[in-house]
Amino acid sequence: MIFMELRDKRVLVVGLGKSGVASALFLKEHGARVTISDTKSGDELRNEIPALLDHGITVETGGHGERTFRGQDLIVVSPGVPVDAPLLQQARNLGEAVIGEIELAAQFLPGPIVAITGSNGKTTTTALAGEIMTAGGLPTLVGGNIGTPAISLAPRATRDTVIVLEVSSFQLETIQTFHPKIAVVLNVTPDHLDRHRTLEVYVNAKARIFENQRGDDFAILNADDPACVEIAGRTKAQVFWFSRQKEVKEGTWVREGNIVFRHGTRQHDVMLASEIPLKGAHNLENVLAAVCAGALMGCAPGKIRQAVQNFKAVEHRLEFVATIRGVDYYNDSKATNVDATIKAIESFPANIHLILGGKDKGSDYSVLNNLLKQRVKRVYTIGAAGVKIESQIKNVEVVHAETLENALRQANALAQPGDVVLLAPACASFDQFKNYEERGTVFKEIVKGLT
Ligand code: ADP
Repeated sequence: MIFMELRDKRVLVVGLGKSGVASALFLKEHGARVTISDTKSGDELRNEIPALLDHGITVETGGHGERTFRGQDLIVVSPGVPVDAPLLQQARNLGEAVIGEIELAAQFLPGPIVAITGSNGKTTTTALAGEIMTAGGLPTLVGGNIGTPAISLAPRATRDTVIVLEVSSFQLETIQTFHPKIAVVLNVTPDHLDRHRTLEVYVNAKARIFENQRGDDFAILNADDPACVEIAGRTKAQVFWFSRQKEVKEGTWVREGNIVFRHGTRQHDVMLASEIPLKGAHNLENVLAAVCAGALMGCAPGKIRQAVQNFKAVEHRLEFVATIRGVDYYNDSKATNVDATIKAIESFPANIHLILGGKDKGSDYSVLNNLLKQRVKRVYTIGAAGVKIESQIKNVEVVHAETLENALRQANALAQPGDVVLLAPACASFDQFKNYEERGTVFKEIVKGLT
């Protein structure tokens, strides 16, 4: 922790998203001279601008002027802005510090940080780890990608506050001193290849979570994920593993239906895997990771068990919606990549009506073919990626539905009692929806209308 001096510093915040706005307000509060700049028009940003102006923050919209980047002491970039953008490169060449919101936050969060990253399961695991720490009696704040920006937690955080943070690979690209006491990497599978270009670059970005760890810190990694095994060597921290398939040296695994935690020679049963209230093997992985983090922070096994038992699925993550004429409807709108879709399909033994599509992220959908054959009755494609998906999948009947409404109407007509209708689209949502939340909400509304 550095506690950088902000008074009278000239700071530019790039991007008026949630974390950008929170950063600008925090910086201003600490006496900095703050400008915030976005390529979006003033009209698009009309909801955000008044509060910023009220606080005396200079707002630039409709593009970044080159002069805006000159003479700044610090530039705070939002995760949506490419790290190699020419204006940022120029600023670095001029000796200006360029960091992200997570790095800014890290400098004002004095307590231990539990940082959770991975391609899938971050939000679920972060929420659960937060519940576990709280149940374990630790003063805990939860934030990052999951909702409250990390920087907004700073005013409430003391030395004793455990900060549980969901961090994305984009955020890790702009850290400098960010130093988690516990770093969790859940899995590393192809996602965001449109932006990270190669898997290697993406794996490297995730591994940056370890960059500032020391020997008295902990890294928690998925023993069943080859990319996690590969990056384990990159941390100086003590490595703990979780696995749903095999015994691990130190960490959490399942032995005869029991979740076991082992640290050195200490070992204890935490709870039965059958007590987990979430669907799917992937959620067992999330639980194992969160339990391991809780146990390492010193939470009592009984409290950990209680927190897991009381945990509810986060909205849009394999969320049960309704049973209509014997057909179960599940909303997994957050399954925005192929791996999450695989996990969703694997959560049901057979008779699935699967809604796939949206905005393609450069994915290979043919990896779904085996599972489609085994478990899926029919695929309904929607959105811009529909045609690409149809050209890559086989072994299954496909309905070109175009819209979510049409897909649901057809699935409702074709599904038999005992079947499952599952939205797990393997794509982003931006072609037809504002975001995955809106897509999930629309799904739920249409389903409710089917009754
Ligand atoms: P993230 O925050 O990383 O996107 P979420 O908890 O929001 O993770 O879950 C995202 C999607 O991935 C959901 O569709 C969920 O069902 C699926 N998922 C959750 N955990 C895992 C996991 N450990 N491995 C693979 N997929 C998962």
